[in-house]
Amino acid sequence: MLRKNMEWIGDSLHIGGVSVNKLKEKYNTPLYIYDQKLFENTAKVFMDKFKSDKFETEIVYASKAFSNLYVLGLVRCLGLDLDVVSGGELYLALKAGINPQKIHFHGNNKLEEELIMAIENDIGLIIIDNMAEFHLLSELLGKYKKKMRVLLRINPDIVTDTHKFIQTSNADSKFGLNIRDEKLTSYIQEIIGDPYVDLEGFHAHIGSQVTKGEFFIEESNFLLNFTKKMSDDLGYEFTNINFGGGFGVSQKEKDPSLDLEEFLPEFIKYIEEKIGELDLPIKRVGIEPGRSLINQAGSTLYTVASVK
Ligand SMILES: *Cc1c(COP(=O)(O)O)cnc(C)c1O
Repeated sequence: MLRKNMEWIGDSLHIGGVSVNKLKEKYNTPLYIYDQKLFENTAKVFMDKFKSDKFETEIVYASKAFSNLYVLGLVRCLGLDLDVVSGGELYLALKAGINPQKIHFHGNNKLEEELIMAIENDIGLIIIDNMAEFHLLSELLGKYKKKMRVLLRINPDIVTDTHKFIQTSNADSKFGLNIRDEKLTSYIQEIIGDPYVDLEGFHAHIGSQVTKGEFFIEESNFLLNFTKKMSDDLGYEFTNINFGGGFGVSQKEKDPSLDLEEFLPEFIKYIEEKIGELDLPIKRVGIEPGRSLINQAGSTLYTVASVK
């Protein structure tokens, strides 16, 4: 399938205006090609269209989609925030000069040494996945006498119409605290009472390659209602909310895809209205695109040696 950054000029395919024949002459094949302009333009679509005058918005690149020093350098220049899920990804982010305050540390199996690395480098936000992790984090912060901003990952039990290996919020998912857990409210109360973590709000991520906007609407409706219920039950003000990533991109001509320029303004409008209706003191709303930011910018060039 020809992507929007590809065109035929004569008998030569061009990607981002560069002839692949020329690239082959210079670098030979196989060759990984990344179109920097397309990555930057897509990031700008996210930044321009997911924007509100009622609260701050945060576009957080999920670096597991593709990361190396060069791409993370672009992330830094564009002013995006960055998700990391391991000590290795955190190391690379710091090496690339990303402001530690713009780094969000995710994952459902954070090791003690990785939490220490996050604390020592004063990263901006930890997304707590489970109570064992919370207890370890609190203990470590106590030793360092530091306070850390956190979000709590909630599994809303929303099942998307995608392959089950990329669904992350069905009831038996390994990610986050399950909405049906009857201890959930008391867990949240415990986190709020901790002197070392500052629970700003909640996070959810429903999976990858979601091409129907209605699933994100359902997710935001759920998470904002949940935030309202928790603030009423616990008498606490939550100010930060993150809806994760998963905005689908098409790989083949007939695949469904999500039109970001159309969907993001609808999404933000829905969120604004819902926050207004529930009268929540939300100051910051984030999303975490990975694949949808980088996927279309990447190609691999091969030479066909024979056809059978
Ligand atoms: C993988 C992941 C993302 C990004 O998902 P994409 O499908 O690449 O957009 C965002 N947030 C979390 C927590 C993830 O695990």
